[in-house]
This record gives sequence, structure tokens and C-alpha cells, in this order.
Amino acid sequence: MSSPHPALFPDLTTGGDRPALRFGDRGLTYAELAAAAGSLAASLGSARRVAVWATPRLETAVGVLAALLAGVPAVPLNPKTGARELAHIVADSAPSAVLAAPGEQLPDTLGELPRTDIVVDTAAAVALPPEPDPATPAFVVYTSGTTGPPKGAVLPRRAVAATLDALEDAWQWTADDVLVHGLPLFHVHGLILGVLGPLRRGGEVRHLGRFTTEGVARELSAGATMLFGVPTMYHRVAEALDGDPELTKALSGARLLVSGSAALPVHDHERIATATGRRVIERYGMTETLMNTAVRADGEPRAGTVGVPLRGVELRIVDEAGAPTADRDEVGEIQVRGPNLFTEYLNRPDATAAAFTADGWFRTGDMAVRDADGAIRIVGRKATDLIKSGGYKIGAGEIENALLDHPGVREAAVTGEPDDDLGERIVAWIVPTDPQQPPGHEELADHVAAQLAPHKRPRTVRYLTELPRNDMGKIMKRALHA
Ligand code: ATP
Ligand code: MG
Repeated sequence: MSSPHPALFPDLTTGGDRPALRFGDRGLTYAELAAAAGSLAASLGSARRVAVWATPRLETAVGVLAALLAGVPAVPLNPKTGARELAHIVADSAPSAVLAAPGEQLPDTLGELPRTDIVVDTAAAVALPPEPDPATPAFVVYTSGTTGPPKGAVLPRRAVAATLDALEDAWQWTADDVLVHGLPLFHVHGLILGVLGPLRRGGEVRHLGRFTTEGVARELSAGATMLFGVPTMYHRVAEALDGDPELTKALSGARLLVSGSAALPVHDHERIATATGRRVIERYGMTETLMNTAVRADGEPRAGTVGVPLRGVELRIVDEAGAPTADRDEVGEIQVRGPNLFTEYLNRPDATAAAFTADGWFRTGDMAVRDADGAIRIVGRKATDLIKSGGYKIGAGEIENALLDHPGVREAAVTGEPDDDLGERIVAWIVPTDPQQPPGHEELADHVAAQLAPHKRPRTVRYLTELPRNDMGKIMKRALHA
């Protein structure tokens, strides 16, 4: 391509009758999508910013495409967000309208915000508007709120283009790829990678509406080539594989099985590999940075690694003083620079300034080490997953993986709690496989010590019926306290 920032979706003008999007039994070709999104774009005029009520349906994709074509920044809204958080997001982002599928019931929290129905008019004849400047914001996407209230990351069009093109390079992603999609449409993973990714390549998206392992098996058997999911989805796949030869066969034939948004437990990675002969590949990103690393299609997927920095991304691991770590095995914070980055947190100059070093590196807050071949291994988040106990710095993730490997453990989360002797004490939160016969504290602690090291033994075990998770399946550790 001649320009470093080609039109975000070149195939809208040239794709013709090739399939672009399908949600259940409703689908659009590229020509139909261009007509539908183009006519809606014309009606958006020069709105300052629009919200999109992001239910998992065709209209949401058309609404987002329309805003992108019009050059109007879109704010995807999670329809399941609680009233208080939704009110905060709407007040913070101050959209001039909300786009929603016709008939979709909107909550009172949206107040007086004018509504525009997303009418999918595939017969409209429209000339697509010229491509806006690459520095124009494409989105304001709110972070998942895992560690605190969500912040609105302003994402320029060039970041969307850069990240999708870097994934093309890493995954040899082409117009022949068909993605099976079961993720929500209001975060980077489901919206930017899952919907815009295939459209930028000229390929196809098949959205399941609601994720089911049956849907995955059906679409992969019917020509889909890639699956994007969060770890909770791969956990469900791993659980279903046993009694489901169709699912096993479908996954065995997939070109790429990709996981992200949180760490994929080693246990699930191994179970899927054993049953299907395929290794799930991980990629690592954030709302603020889009994608930073990925296991390449021609790379070597290993449980627990998120691959290598993507093309154009500079990545360093630094110690507490901010100096790059000298030693491969030394745990440090990941910092990144590159064309994939956001420009600022909306209305939060303080948080924006705090997020960057003086020389322009973004502090991810994620802690990692490097494998011998340069692959990044994420240990956890600085804020919640690094436990300082008895003079050691211990990552929660490896203890969680060890616990999940015990047959009596269905789900596990590890946190640190203040302790007079140790500084912090390792606490394991367990959802037992059989609630009638939960494994005891000593048994679990011995299991961890045998796999890892004696100082990684959980000192306290607490039993739950489920872990607090957000809509991406991420464990909300801030909700875990005694
Ligand atoms: P908030 O910033 O509001 O607390 P959040 O960080 O969960 O929420 P996102 O931007 O959606 O919001 O998530 C980015 C984070 O998800 C990363 O910083 C990292 O901790 C985690 N993450 C993403 N992909 C992976 C992965 N493959 N392995 C481990 N962690 C991952
Ligand atoms: Mg974050």
C-alpha cells in the first residue's frame, strides 16, 4: 500500500458481493455494508462524538462503521453497565447522540441524549466521504474497570490502522480468513480486533450473538478459519472437548485459535493442545495501547507466553528505578511506545501525564519477564498480582496456574493481604470442582509448594461458589477481600 495510513476499510468500495458481516441469519456483503453505513454516516453530519449502544447485533457494527466513515469519534457503550458507571461514562464523554438498533430499550440513565436509530438500508446509493486525517480520534473506549473506575482512552485512527496491520503481519491475516466471533462489541478485543480487523483485510466476520461451543464448532466446520476468545471461552471449550468429537475436529482444522484480554490458564492451554493437536496463541494488549505483542502464526506457541512485540511496537521491561532490567529472569514493568498508542485519557490530564515516562514510554502496569527466545511472559499486574511476601516478589499468576492444575480446583485467584511477619501473605480464593468435597488448605498448599517453591504456599485458602468477573471474564480482584 502506498500511504502509511490507507483508508481504514479499502474493501468497502471494492468488495462488492463478498460477505462482510454476519450476525446469526442476518448478513451483509461489502457493497451492502458500504450502502448501509454510508447512508447512516451522511446523517451524522459533523456531530462531535456519538455513543453506540453496543448490543451484539448487526446494527452495532453498522453504527460504528458509519461513525468511522463520517469521521465522528464513537463511544461504544456496554448495555450491561450499571446505572452509576453508565452515567459517569455518558457525562464524561458527552456524546451528541446515541446510536441504537431500532426497538432497543435504552435506560433512563441516558437522560435527554438524542437517539438515532441504526436503520440498515442496503439499497441506499451514497458516495463514501473522504478518509479523515489519521490523527482524528476514531474512538473513545473505556477501560474494563478491573483496577478502578473505567477511563476513556482516546484512540486515533492511525492507532487502529497500525495495530490491525501489525496483526496482519504477525498472523498472515488475509481476505480469505473468516473469523468466528462471540465477544462483546464495546471493548478493543471484540470491536477493533473482532469486527474491524476482518473488515480491514477484506475478510468476513461471523458473530455468534452469544458465545456457545456449539456455535464455534458449527462455524469452524463451515469454513471459518480463526477464533478469537477470552480465557473463560477457552475454558468452556476445554471442558466441552471431552464428549464432543465435532468440536475437537473443528478446532483441529482451524488456522488460528487466539486468546487475549487476560492470561489463559496453562491447564486449559494444555487440555486443548492434547485433545486437538492445536495450541492456542496469545496476544497481549490494552485499551490504551491496542495490541503490543502476539505469538506469530509461524512462531512457537507456549503456554503462558504472549509472544513477541508486534511490528512497530517498541517494548522494554524496567525495574523499579525505571531502568531496563539487566537479567532475563528479572521481573519488571512492561513499557511500550509506538503508533498503536492512545493519545490521552479523556478529561484526565493528570492520569494521562502519570501514565507516560518523561521520555514518552507508556507504563502498562503489567509485570513480565522474557523467555530465552525473547517471548514475553506476563507475571501479572503491578497493582494486584505482585505479592511481596517474606522478602520475595511473587506473581499471583503462577500460583493460580498451579492451583488450577489440582483436580479439586475449578477456579482460582490469588491475592496478597497484609501480614505482620511476611509483609504480605498469599491468599488463595478457590471455587472447588465439587463443593461437597473441597480440597483442604494443607493439600492445596502442598500441591503449590511441590510444583513451585515452599515460599509460594498459600497461607490462607478461602472458598467461594464463583469468582467475581466482569463481562470479559476478567477476575475483579478488587472485589476479593475478607
Ligand atoms: P482498568 O484499566 O480499567 O483497570 P483493564 O486493565 O482490565 O481495566 P483493559 O484495557 O480492557 O482494561 O485490559 C488490559 C489489561 O488486560 C492489560 O493491562 C493486561 O493486564 C490484561 N491482558 C490483556 N491481554 C492479556 C494476556 N494475553 N495475558 C495476560 N493479561 C492480559
Ligand atoms: Mg488497565
